[in-house]
This record gives sequence, structure tokens and C-alpha cells, in this order.
Amino acid sequence: MSTHSAPAPDPTAGAAVKAADRAHVFHSWSAQGQIDPPAIAGAEGSYFWDYDGNRFLDFSSQLVNTNIGHQHPKVVAAIQEQAAKMCTLAPGFAVDVRSEAARLIAQRTPGDLDKIFFTNGGAEAVENAVRMARVHTGRPKALSAYRSYHGATNAAINLTGDPRRWASDSASAGVVHFWAPFLYRSPFHAETEEQERDRALRHLADTITFEGPQTIAAIILETVPGTAGIMPPPPGYLAGVREICDQYGIVLILDEVMAGFGRTGRWFARDHWDVTPDLLTFAKGVNSGYVPIGGVAISAEIAATFDQRPYPGGLTYSGHPLACASVVATLTAMEEEGIVDNAAAIGEQVIGPGLREIAERHPSVGEVRGLGVFWAVELVRNPETREPLVPYNASGPANQPMVDFAAAVKRGGLWPSVVMNRTHVVPPCTVSAAEAKDGLAILDEALAVADAHV
Ligand code: PMP
Repeated sequence: MSTHSAPAPDPTAGAAVKAADRAHVFHSWSAQGQIDPPAIAGAEGSYFWDYDGNRFLDFSSQLVNTNIGHQHPKVVAAIQEQAAKMCTLAPGFAVDVRSEAARLIAQRTPGDLDKIFFTNGGAEAVENAVRMARVHTGRPKALSAYRSYHGATNAAINLTGDPRRWASDSASAGVVHFWAPFLYRSPFHAETEEQERDRALRHLADTITFEGPQTIAAIILETVPGTAGIMPPPPGYLAGVREICDQYGIVLILDEVMAGFGRTGRWFARDHWDVTPDLLTFAKGVNSGYVPIGGVAISAEIAATFDQRPYPGGLTYSGHPLACASVVATLTAMEEEGIVDNAAAIGEQVIGPGLREIAERHPSVGEVRGLGVFWAVELVRNPETREPLVPYNASGPANQPMVDFAAAVKRGGLWPSVVMNRTHVVPPCTVSAAEAKDGLAILDEALAVADAHV
């Protein structure tokens, strides 16, 4: 672990933070008695550090959130200025920063997705997008992919394909899952991207036929599925889904909560394939999470549904002024500083080539894939059979190889994003070439731990 030169370590303060955390904070997705969250003292740019003086290069971006890096001075200043001016105002008022944030977002969204409904995060964006689609079409069902994550509120967790939905699956009325393309572990036994695309589209069309097209309000897809493994779709897949939706009058929702706002080296991941949804959900990168905010960008046709009839939804904090001020500052800084282009260049010139080289050296690396600053390294026990390093949804001793791998990465001074049998390489979009190379070198060394299981 590298040691940050300033501020001075303060282990006593760190111990007090940890003690209060342990006594009173109930943590997400965790067995409360089995966790030991590190106490973090500060953060800047691509780094954060603890009270003991250990500094970590942030290859997680805090749940793939801080696209602009930690403590960007222009965003911090904008929040401070807005706080001094007006901290809060109900959603029913027109506010300068709210109007401007919506305008800047709409400027970047595709087609006629020019109206913005603000939420407090990604799950609420998904909830509301599905709600809009149901009211707009008058149909009950929503289709989503098995390999997906859409959030942890009621509809969002049911739409989510990963095992975290199992605990509340009985509430999933109206949700139908299907297989989206993923060539490395093809659900269709395909051998080429073209086969995978064609078979995935046929499977989706068949699913719709057997569910009843007139019962389906929406198909929701992450443009590039993130938590489920950062899997860019084969060329033509999203265009094919768009066609199917048009054929049956189904609303296409692209979930860009994780992939949006620069992560893939474009403003939105959909820009790579030029597919325009009817609704687009966003959060995270829109302001790097400095103040909670998310939203839905809405097409003219769906917005018109609610022109003379009320939209039956709303949130006290919708379009919160502090959050909107940070959106305006974030998008302005990203534009001025060429941050989206930086993400593209780092992906093409450093992370992509670097990970491919690493894959050649390490038998435990089954596949690397991604774009921009959005990459997955898939770890396997057997490169021939592609048996994952740990079983799907492993916990306890079965998951120990990934726990050991993550510990080795952290000892090297890198904070990884480990999901099941993968490590995701998701630094801020502002990451420098030197930082990205440092991070890859640490991963390279830690992979010896995974290789030992092959
Ligand atoms: N959709 C996607 C694609 C996400 O990645 C996430 C969060 N990881 C969500 C929705 C949910 O967002 P939130 O945690 O802000 O509710």
C-alpha cells in the first residue's frame, strides 16, 4: 500500500469513526456481523485515503459513480454557492439551476428525449420509467435481461436479473426475464457475434410472442450491462431490439445509470450504436454522485401522454437545487476539460491494450472486454472450459479465491471493483495515463493469486 504524504495519519480518529459505524450504521447488501468497512479520511482526483495513511488508487469510482473524480473543485464550489443561495425548493417551482441542468442533459440525450424527470438516484429512475411506460401503453408487463442490474427498489429489483432479486421475487408481477447476448458465456451456444446477435433477437421475439405483445409495456436494457459483467452488445443487437419494439408498440427503455455520462468514452453508451430509446434512465455520472440525483429523459411522444393528464408520480427531492447545481457544474467541467474524450483515449490507448497484454500472461484471465473506462476482467479456473474462478453467486469458503485476490489488489494500493468472478476496471473518466498504468501494474501482480487456482 502506498502512503499518502498529507494529511497526517490519525488512527485514533479512524478508530472512533469505525466504532460509531459498527454501532449504528446498517450497511447495504451485508451480513452486519461479518463486515469491517474501512474508515476513509479524504479523497481527491483518482485517489482516496484512510486514517492510517494508506492511499488507494480508485479503480471502482465508488460504485462506478465518480466519473469526474473525487472533489472536483468546480463542482464543490458550485454546491457551496448554491447552498449559500437556496438549499431547497419543492419540485413544483421553476428554479434556475434545475432548468439549466435539464437543458444541459436534454442537449446530450438523443432524438426528441427533451424532457427530464428528476429522481434521487438510479432505482427511482427505473421505477418511474417503467411506470411511465405502463401508463403510456396501458399494458402491464416489463421485460428485462437475466444478466442485469436495475436497482434495489420494488420494480427495479424485480427487473434486476442477478440473485439479489431472489429474496423478493414473489413481488415480481408483470416482470419477465429474457437472455440478452453475451458471447463468452453464450446462452445460445453461439460461436460468433453475428450468431449471438441473431439468436438473441430471435429469442426475444419468441419471448414476446409467447407472453403476448399486447401485454408488454416495456423492454428495459442496460445499453452496456454493467454490474452483470460489462458486456458491450454485438453490433446490430440494439438496433434489432429497437425494431422489435417498434413492431409491437413496446416502449424501449435504455438504462444508462452506470454507462452514461462519459463512462464508455461517449456521453451515452447508446452513442456507440446510434440507437434511440423512448426513455433513458440516468444517475451516477450526471454529477458524479456529489449530491444524490438521477432521472428519466422522456421522448416527445411519451411526454405528450402526460400533457393534459397528470403524471401519477413525484418525489419531494425531485430536482434538488444542490444536486442540480452540481449537475450544471459537472457537465460544464466535463465539456471544458475534454473528460469524455479522455475516457475514450485512456480506454483505447492504455486500459484496452494493457488488459489484453495482462490476459496473455495470466491463465486465470478468461476474457477482458469493455470500452472507455468501463472494463471487465473475467477470472476462470479453467481457460478451456471457462469454468469461473468461483461459482455463480458464491459466498463463504467457495468465494475465498476472489476475496484473496481483492485483498492482494488492496495491498498493492489499488481499490478494485470485484463482482462475482470478475474484477471491473472502472476508474474515473479523468484518470491519467500514468495512473491507469499504475493500476494495471498492481492488478497484474495480484493476478498471481488467481493463477494459483488454475
Ligand atoms: N441501473 C443501473 C444500470 C445501475 O448500475 C444501478 C446502480 N448500480 C441502478 C440502476 C440503481 O441505481 P441506484 O443505486 O442509484 O438506485
